[in-house]
Amino acid sequence: MSVPTQPAAPAWPIDLKTALLLTAGVATTLVIFALDLILPLGVAAAVPYVVPILISMWLPWRTAPLAFAAAATVLTALGYFLSPPALQGTPLWVVVGNRLLSVFMFGTVAVLCWWRQRYADQLDQERARLRSVIDISLDAIVAIDERGLIQSFSRGGERLFGYTEREVLGRNVSMLMPEPHRSRHDQYLDRYLRTGESRIMGAGRMVEAQRRDGSVFPVNLMVGEVNAGGRRLFTGFVQDMTERERARSKIHDLQIELYRIGRLSELGEIASAIAHELNQPLTAISNYVRAGANMARTLEGDAAAKVILLMDKAVQQTDRAGQIIRRLRQLIGRGQAELLPVSINDVIGDACALALIDTRQKGINVSFDLTDALPDVLADATQIQQVIFNLVRNSVDALHTSERREIVVRTAAGANGDIEVSVSDTGPGLPPEVEERLFMPFVTTKPNGMGIGLSICRSIIDAHDGRIWGRSRPEGGAIFAFQLPAHEGAEMEQ
Ligand code: ADP
Repeated sequence: MSVPTQPAAPAWPIDLKTALLLTAGVATTLVIFALDLILPLGVAAAVPYVVPILISMWLPWRTAPLAFAAAATVLTALGYFLSPPALQGTPLWVVVGNRLLSVFMFGTVAVLCWWRQRYADQLDQERARLRSVIDISLDAIVAIDERGLIQSFSRGGERLFGYTEREVLGRNVSMLMPEPHRSRHDQYLDRYLRTGESRIMGAGRMVEAQRRDGSVFPVNLMVGEVNAGGRRLFTGFVQDMTERERARSKIHDLQIELYRIGRLSELGEIASAIAHELNQPLTAISNYVRAGANMARTLEGDAAAKVILLMDKAVQQTDRAGQIIRRLRQLIGRGQAELLPVSINDVIGDACALALIDTRQKGINVSFDLTDALPDVLADATQIQQVIFNLVRNSVDALHTSERREIVVRTAAGANGDIEVSVSDTGPGLPPEVEERLFMPFVTTKPNGMGIGLSICRSIIDAHDGRIWGRSRPEGGAIFAFQLPAHEGAEMEQ
């Protein structure tokens, strides 16, 4: 047998408060009517009808006082006919006048009540409008009284501090400040009330605020004062300055970094000059040692063979020193972009000679998988070196926390005859927050990083009509690669 489902209880058309007020209003009206019927005509028994009219003012219907006044008028008229006769000697005009004055009073009170309610409704609307404006504001707006107790707390305040309005109402506003202001705020307020001196009144000021979780953050605080019904209220506008401060410190860091880069380019010029100066003595040393080696070759014996060997090594080392200086000058020097057919494998060799300078100490194993006989690319060799240098250095940086430390630099012929260069590593791969915005400037996860390396790489590769990308590898680590168009006619030249 199926159980019939209970129909849902109908929602009460009125709430409990309204029901109680309505009952009180109707009951008082009936009691007054009963009294009127008991008391002789001429006694002003209808006057108390003013009480239910006033009670009806709190009912949700704005016309309730008028309805109660109308009912009181009807009952007053009825009472005239049904009440016991007037006491002896009471003239009729007194009895009738008494009733008419009562009715006039009901009307006046009802109209005044209706007017007052309309005014209260307007105030409510104004308040709701003001509240919505306050709540839309991203800033926290906190009103306190003379004792520092919170009277209102905007939505912005809830978002900023992590408290709900209910939690903070009536509590001391010092709960939103860190020490030492927390313990001193009552004194500040006291001093202001006594002397009228304040550092934050009217003008904004940078101070610290404290969230519910205890974290402290910078805010700009501005306080205004109002006199409401004889009470002094203070309204504080609290603007979160965290982002602005962060941006400011970032700009500061960038300025320092730019200054450093500026110094670096000065150093580059000095390095160029030194390289130039060193070239001569290096060439001279190389020539002397070569001449010495030639002379030693005319001698005989084991010792002579050893001297020749050592001198050959000295020549090799001087040549190597010369090469390093030449590469340094190339990498640092700015100069105009010069597009020439170059072998990508040679460019990689030059860039890596510098980029891998400290990898052995860091326990990093670098391997090259370079495809032979690739066509040349039309490129500015120095700029492409900078790209490879940056990709390899990023891999070196990424590997410092990894157990397996390997970098592979690869070249291959890509689709459409493009040349592809890739640098892969066994580091942690790309952080997810960076992956989307990899080539945008100022994206970095390094404490001292500038986040401009990859964006520069991209603009260089774009200027070469190439394409660059980077991603995490499924097997772990990251891979960055770029493609450059092969130099047209390279095949013919080959
Ligand atoms: P910077 O090196 O100054 O941080 P880059 O533009 O060169 O600037 O790199 C941006 C960010 O990309 C790095 O901070 C890092 O988070 C990420 N990244 C670049 N290369 C790698 C890599 N090989 N492995 C992991 N993350 C990398």
